[in-house]
Amino acid sequence: MAMKPLPWQRERWRRLVELQDSGRLPHALLLSGPRGIGKQPLAEALVARTLCHSPGEVACGECHSCRMLAAGYHPDLMSVTPSEKSRQIRIDAIRQVNGFVAQTAQQGGHRVIRIEPAEAMNVAASNALLKSLEEPGEQTLFILVSDIPSRLLPTIRSRCQHWNLATPPADAAEPWLGERLGDAEEARFWLRVAGGLPLLAEELAGAEARHLRQDLRELFDALVRGGEPIGEAARLDAQALDRVLWYGIAWLEDLIRLGLSGDPRRVRNSDLLPLYRQAVKNARVRDWFRLLDYAREQRRLLAAGGNPNPQLVLEAWLVRWSALLRS
Ligand SMILES: [Zn+2]
Repeated sequence: MAMKPLPWQRERWRRLVELQDSGRLPHALLLSGPRGIGKQPLAEALVARTLCHSPGEVACGECHSCRMLAAGYHPDLMSVTPSEKSRQIRIDAIRQVNGFVAQTAQQGGHRVIRIEPAEAMNVAASNALLKSLEEPGEQTLFILVSDIPSRLLPTIRSRCQHWNLATPPADAAEPWLGERLGDAEEARFWLRVAGGLPLLAEELAGAEARHLRQDLRELFDALVRGGEPIGEAARLDAQALDRVLWYGIAWLEDLIRLGLSGDPRRVRNSDLLPLYRQAVKNARVRDWFRLLDYAREQRRLLAAGGNPNPQLVLEAWLVRWSALLRS
């Protein structure tokens, strides 16, 4: 559990601490921003500082409360996440939150409820949460963490103070990532690939994810040369469908940038330029846009848990992708 915010979050953090110390921190915060921007460390640092018995700029890390958190259990913290299967946060989980809010804090201090991703709450769960958000009682802090806050009910959003995290400037994220990856050049590359999202970049640079990208790159290459999409689909793990679509979207965006500007510096995946150049010859930008919409929609459906057969979705995607690459 992170006790400190990330380096580029210092400004935000200072503001949060200021509000907290002057008793003006609202009882419900909505932390939003794309996945991989660093919402979790910020939320965790705030949870820790809120529960800490002698906080400085950050949680002390030594008091009874901090030690409980570090050990993975704190009676005054309730974390709500979707059940594995349904990918939804259901009303039962929120009823437990309401019960928790109705009790007094066991450690005599604050209670914190963290809901993540908040957009996973279904309508019944969201409605059940409203009452607690309206009358939270003393010393209660709700932290709702969301990748896509537009999917929250407006009534939930309006009861939270909204903190939207912006993509950090590269000169702040690169040193951090360089330290994690042990290589500044690598950090620059992966940060570009991840669209500037540092934690996503770290994830993509990991061994397994790197392997998948390499497979996709070979597949892209095969399709540009006229390979058979269904046959190629067999090489990929359908369980990685979300990541496959994510890369498809990122590469289409690159193709569109290249097609519209003709400027190779605008491309995020610079290692793919030779393939892009070939693909750009074969299709019109309008068609790339259409395919982009399709990929986004498939990803949205996947996230909503309306899980069709991933193998079929993967094949359908590759058929469409290849039709454009060699048309
Ligand atoms: Zn402490």
